[in-house]
Amino acid sequence: MSTLAYIGLGANLGDARQTIAAAINKLSHSSGILTLKQAPLYSSDPVDAQGPVFINTVVAIDTTLEPLPLLDLLQAIEQEHGRERPYRNAPRTLDLDLLLYGTLKIETPRLSVPHPRMHQRAFVLRPLQDLAPNLQLLQGSFSSLLAACQEQKLDRLLA
Ligand code: AMP
Repeated sequence: MSTLAYIGLGANLGDARQTIAAAINKLSHSSGILTLKQAPLYSSDPVDAQGPVFINTVVAIDTTLEPLPLLDLLQAIEQEHGRERPYRNAPRTLDLDLLLYGTLKIETPRLSVPHPRMHQRAFVLRPLQDLAPNLQLLQGSFSSLLAACQEQKLDRLLA
């Protein structure tokens, strides 16, 4: 049995495009990840964070990993890319968020799924919509959620 999950990726230090590409490559070759599909890349101004523009995308994975082992894998990939957390929302080399895990709702100290802020972030909503235009989010349609964050600057990058 496998589950369709969505992962949000963001990077804004160093060669952010290269970091995102390496993280996706690593994820796709990890045990328990059966398939992976990537949305286009976007650049976004920092929201609740500091530093240069972010490069963002979302991937859909088919996985046999349970949520916590999947989070362990995401955090191991973050660590490989030298992520440090000197303070909350500090600039980061690589940030991986588990956005959705099937239709499961999880509320534990280590993991909140669906990701509690994903519906407020254009840099998550736009690539997620590219991948899964018919997805129903609890908080509303893509168009209404995106309308609510239209002041967030977001540009689609050429491949
Ligand atoms: P951040 O610095 O925003 O990447 O937050 C990382 C922390 O958020 C970690 O300690 C995770 O255990 C926790 N966390 C809670 N829910 C999630 C989620 N859905 N995806 C990734 N990290 C999460």
